[in-house]
Amino acid sequence: MKDIQELKDLNAKQIWHPMGHPGDLQANAPTIIDRAEGVRITDIDGHETIDAVGGLWCANLGYSNDVVKQAISDQLSKLPYYSAFAGTSNAPAIEAAETVVNFFKPDGMARAFFTSGGSDSVETALRLSRQYHRLRGQPQRIKFLSLKKGYHGTHFGGASVNGNARFRTAYEPLLPGCYHLPSPYSYRNPFNESDPAKLAQLVAQTMEDEILFQDPSTIAAFILEPIQGAGGVIVYHESFMKLARDICDKYGILMISDEVITGFGRTGDWSGARHWGVQPDMMTTAKGITSAYFPVGATLLNAKVAETFESDQSGEGGIFHGYTYSAHPVGMAAVNACLSETLRLDLKSNAAARGTQLYNGLKTLQEEFDVIGDVRGGHGLMAAIELVSDRGTKTPMDMPSLKRAHKACYQSGTMVRMGGNNLLMSPPLTLTEADVSKILDDLRVGLKAI
Ligand code: PMP
Repeated sequence: MKDIQELKDLNAKQIWHPMGHPGDLQANAPTIIDRAEGVRITDIDGHETIDAVGGLWCANLGYSNDVVKQAISDQLSKLPYYSAFAGTSNAPAIEAAETVVNFFKPDGMARAFFTSGGSDSVETALRLSRQYHRLRGQPQRIKFLSLKKGYHGTHFGGASVNGNARFRTAYEPLLPGCYHLPSPYSYRNPFNESDPAKLAQLVAQTMEDEILFQDPSTIAAFILEPIQGAGGVIVYHESFMKLARDICDKYGILMISDEVITGFGRTGDWSGARHWGVQPDMMTTAKGITSAYFPVGATLLNAKVAETFESDQSGEGGIFHGYTYSAHPVGMAAVNACLSETLRLDLKSNAAARGTQLYNGLKTLQEEFDVIGDVRGGHGLMAAIELVSDRGTKTPMDMPSLKRAHKACYQSGTMVRMGGNNLLMSPPLTLTEADVSKILDDLRVGLKAI
């Protein structure tokens, strides 16, 4: 094992980091995280902070769950791997499918297809939605609709429906047939509409116009996050997803709810769609499914989609798609233990209570600091503050100031995440009241540094 100085010297010399510039890694070497306990992480210099990022919106149970660790260790000893491609299965996978489907039964889900993470889950949903229409005699339904500001991972399919130019431009041409609608983002939108209910109507109208313009019989699916996460925790008006669902139904378009962040309790309920009273046709999940103890994702399908495949007599319903690590037995053991702990600890209720505390605290900070243009959250433990240099013009805060705030906050004892001109928060759902107060205190220090 290398010592601390050797690690620092070698840091980022050979490893390219996701979402980082390889040319910048020497000048701005990443912080080396060494260990974690509960909701706290410690870097290699021994500096401890609250992890208000929850890894990457994923460490829902925190870092010290012995039940999950033990389940992983037991499964590693018994069966560390076997394929789940047609022909073989494993007991933890059979159990995990039942557990995950039960989680999302109130959302209408009936079947689970396991993947290795969120991007895989999105890719699976996009592919299966095209195949679904093909099986129903509509092979011309190949197009996808999505929202600007949406994030759906980085595979070519997910990047194509992604609504943020930063994740797209360098990798074009992307999948043809993907069209983006404005985000129902009341702080900034092309309609200059700040009333969330009216904005929801305007975006829904734009959606219907686009569908008619494209020809409804060419559209396979509409994918959206119930609350946009990476785009800046954009919470729509409660009517929006329902309006979109009705339009999907009217034109035979599948609705995919991307619940990679919002699934399993983060929003204060077990799914994001449930907040809006909507049942999607498919759901994509990852992150909270194992609280990041093992890389796993799942795509969920409702009975209508499942029956279309299961009743197929033509042979066209075969799924020629999947991953070496789909239904990995160790991952599946992690799912079973993580979800039983998630239920036992009733993480959604703690997320709701602590989320309200965090949101109210951020609103109070907004009264104190002019640089906070907008505060978003209020549905469980996902929150953002959007920083501006001028509230009147909403000019985004410059990057050096954002970095200064981020650094001061970290030094004071809280790790937050920068995303555009936002500071994003998605802490473990096991957070206490005192932890939330500490996050707010440290944010105050960060904001003063601007
Ligand atoms: N969809 C959403 C909504 C996400 O937030 C993410 C990741 N943050 C993904 C998909 C991609 O997941 P992964 O990084 O596990 O591939």
